[in-house]
Amino acid sequence: MSNRDEKHDDRDPLDPSAQVPSDIPPGLDRRKFIMRSAVISAAAVMNGCTRSETEQKAPPPAAADTQPTGTSGTKPGPAVPLSPDLNVVKKGQGPVLTTVDEFYKVGPGPSSSHTIGPMRITYDFYQRAAMLPADKLSTATALKVNLFGSLSATGKGHGTERAALAGLVGKEPATVDPKFLDSLRDNPDQTFQVKLGDKSIPVSLKDIIYDATKGDFKHPNTMTVKLLAGNDVLLEQEYYSVGGGFIEWKGYTPPTKNPPQYPFRTMKELRTYADTNNTTIGKIMLANEMSIAGRSEEEVYAFVDKIINAMVATVKSGLSMSENDVLPGPIKLHSKAATVYKRAMDDSYQAERGIGSLSAFALAASEENGRGHLVITAPTGGSAGVMPSLVYGLLEVRKVPRQKVRDGMLAAAAVGYLCKHHATLSAAEGGCQAEIGVASAMAAALVATAYDAKSLVVENAAESALEHHLGMTCDPVAGYVQVPCIERCAFGAVKAWTAFAIASNEIASRHRVNFDETVMALAQTARDMNSKYKETSEAGLAQSVTLC
Ligand code: SF4
Repeated sequence: MSNRDEKHDDRDPLDPSAQVPSDIPPGLDRRKFIMRSAVISAAAVMNGCTRSETEQKAPPPAAADTQPTGTSGTKPGPAVPLSPDLNVVKKGQGPVLTTVDEFYKVGPGPSSSHTIGPMRITYDFYQRAAMLPADKLSTATALKVNLFGSLSATGKGHGTERAALAGLVGKEPATVDPKFLDSLRDNPDQTFQVKLGDKSIPVSLKDIIYDATKGDFKHPNTMTVKLLAGNDVLLEQEYYSVGGGFIEWKGYTPPTKNPPQYPFRTMKELRTYADTNNTTIGKIMLANEMSIAGRSEEEVYAFVDKIINAMVATVKSGLSMSENDVLPGPIKLHSKAATVYKRAMDDSYQAERGIGSLSAFALAASEENGRGHLVITAPTGGSAGVMPSLVYGLLEVRKVPRQKVRDGMLAAAAVGYLCKHHATLSAAEGGCQAEIGVASAMAAALVATAYDAKSLVVENAAESALEHHLGMTCDPVAGYVQVPCIERCAFGAVKAWTAFAIASNEIASRHRVNFDETVMALAQTARDMNSKYKETSEAGLAQSVTLC
């Protein structure tokens, strides 16, 4: 495989400044015109089509111009705009540099942005505070965490305060015992001593403050952490949990990485590398993982194996739970994975056994997420039932060789990276399409790769799965990642299989929509979506479902 010199179009497909015509038609709002023009231009670059003069001068469509009206009949406020300072916004401008160990993270459920991210944030702050000079630390009296935006609006249902406290006392997501988090829920008055220098600072859940849900935040998932000496602030940092367990902070600069062997910004570029080198998307991704992270093939696969094994373990653990088990929280939702599995296997029709068992595997892993047990972000905690369902089905049921599943995991990662790169993995930015929609697209790519599909079929399967989640909102009932999330993972898994079934049986070259176009639609829909449907529990099922 060597195609390093392949020429790329240097234009960034999503860089508005590179695409927007200078003449804005009279009477049009500049911001909306720029946004629409960027999307049309990006489509042109990705598809190799030129925008016609008519398209360039056309006014924005009425739908894009008009704020949707809420069910109450009032005009809802705009979604929290993302600050252009955030790396998560700037990142789409270069090649994809994400690596598997950043992407697939093991951590406690139920939400990568509301549990894993905040735990990583407070753990990071603890490390920074520990480096302060001894004379400063000797005056420290308290640690305080303030949660804002979506973290405040739905954090209670997600256990954000417990995750944040766990990070402060030195726990990391991958190794924290879920029983520790359960004990914080069951005994919320516990106090812990955080050792900083010679000082021991008492901390408890009272130090995690649910602050303003609305405001001028850089990201909807914003939080601050402070080390105090009485009323004086010794150290303060503002952080952002930007989705999938990824975090940033004020002044964040992404770590410098080695250049990828095959730099790509789009699925089209990635697939071209695979096709011209007569190999697979999975193998191109392997080469990139090795070059970006400086790891050997064995090291990359060892990590992928760890994630595969963890996914299988979550499904097994979920299936072992009794139907009388009740998930934490006010919904009082009973576990049903084991029951669905058992009854599905009793079905006399093979196809229904397949759909039923795939659904049950997804329910099992997702219920584990709802319990706050360890799950794998693929790409997030809320969507953590989708990929494990397919991994379990391929490895444990169909007995597909592990190497094919490994390659599938890398192809799935590429799908997730591209969605993160050009759109979002955060429900607080883009609703559930960014979580379960992306998970389903990843799972479709996994299955297609595991069954040796051509790269175009892999792309088509991922595209189809993502396409049929566009517009899906995030409206968790009571702020708990259970309804609609758990069943939604089952639907995401089945849709992934359906997408593979269609993509592998149609004439691939006739598939009309490409993956990059659908990722742009994801980004655009995320921007236009009413903020009430972005992990705030202010609308949708969160409003209409009555808990007795
Ligand atoms: S509705 Fe979807 S995005 Fe929202 S919490 Fe549930 S799984 Fe996550």
